[in-house]
Amino acid sequence: MSRIALYPGSFDPLTNGHISLVERGLDIFDEVIVAVAHNPNKTGLFSVEERLEIVREVFKTPRVKATTFQGLLVNFAKEMNAHAILRGLRSVGDFEYEYQMANMNRQLAPGLQTVFLMAEPDQFYVSSRLVKEVSSLGGDVTSVVPEPVLRRLAKIHNPSK
Ligand code: ADP
Repeated sequence: MSRIALYPGSFDPLTNGHISLVERGLDIFDEVIVAVAHNPNKTGLFSVEERLEIVREVFKTPRVKATTFQGLLVNFAKEMNAHAILRGLRSVGDFEYEYQMANMNRQLAPGLQTVFLMAEPDQFYVSSRLVKEVSSLGGDVTSVVPEPVLRRLAKIHNPSK
């Protein structure tokens, strides 16, 4: 039976921190489903479709799937036959939020585990929010995001190029 992890998030945009989490998730699980949360009240820098395209451009293996979801995560996890939810931890700030979420999800779906992987030492400061901020101010984010993101950021910030 293949072990499936559901990795939910905004991924606006995908960073090398997210990529590392998926790659390390594949050491534990047979399949990782990257699930881009669709929040109708929140417009991102990238559309949900673009975020999915990026995931598909980065991960060529059939062991990584990209999809979107709305509503309660635990319901979607059941629908996808996921064995676990995969999340990352960078800081104490992440911990408090993740701890609350994991316990609420445990309450809602008792058999479904949340598995946390620590950020890598050279990526603990990498966040989608900072990537957006730095690149909008003309900063170089080459070392923290994959090429499909860099290309799209360049189009947004330098549409003439
Ligand atoms: P959300 O809006 O749900 O926090 P994100 O796309 O920002 O979605 O993050 C999804 C998950 O990936 C979260 O668990 C987050 O802690 C984790 N994550 C984000 N950046 C990194 C990183 N640099 N290293 C490890 N985990 C990360």
